[in-house]
Amino acid sequence: MFQILKNFFIGLGNIFRKPRTVVYPREKIIIPEKSRGVLHLKLDLDSLDVICNGCGNCQKACPENCIVIKKKVKDDGKENLDQFFLDFGRCIFCGKCVEACELGAIDMSYRYQLADFNRKNLVMEKVDLIKPSGTLRDFWK
Ligand code: SF4
Ligand code: SF4
Repeated sequence: MFQILKNFFIGLGNIFRKPRTVVYPREKIIIPEKSRGVLHLKLDLDSLDVICNGCGNCQKACPENCIVIKKKVKDDGKENLDQFFLDFGRCIFCGKCVEACELGAIDMSYRYQLADFNRKNLVMEKVDLIKPSGTLRDFWK
């Protein structure tokens, strides 16, 4: 009898409880902190350019060979980053590239939706990887 009453009140309580699921894709969730979302390139807030200098450490550390970096030589003879490609069709979100970056120029964001009909669209270039949507936790609000 006690168990029946207990279950009754649990059921009653659930009627008034906020649903734990969302109507996806109409509603989006905020993924927890430290989640491994889509990688993004961080910006230097003074120059508004990417922090990445094209050193290639992340490219070497990547076990899936997802990263391709192209460098250019500046007027002063120094090399810096020209293009940065990341193939999310191959990425396993291991985070090795983030660990390998001494400048903290690459990080995992709170963005998690990547599905696409065309695999080519999963290859993102520098301009895609610096989009603010990748850096703002409240992007989906
Ligand atoms: S998260 Fe892992 S697999 Fe993806 S690009 Fe970085 S190192 Fe490569
Ligand atoms: S993201 Fe970091 S490790 Fe990768 S090329 Fe840029 S500076 Fe080097």
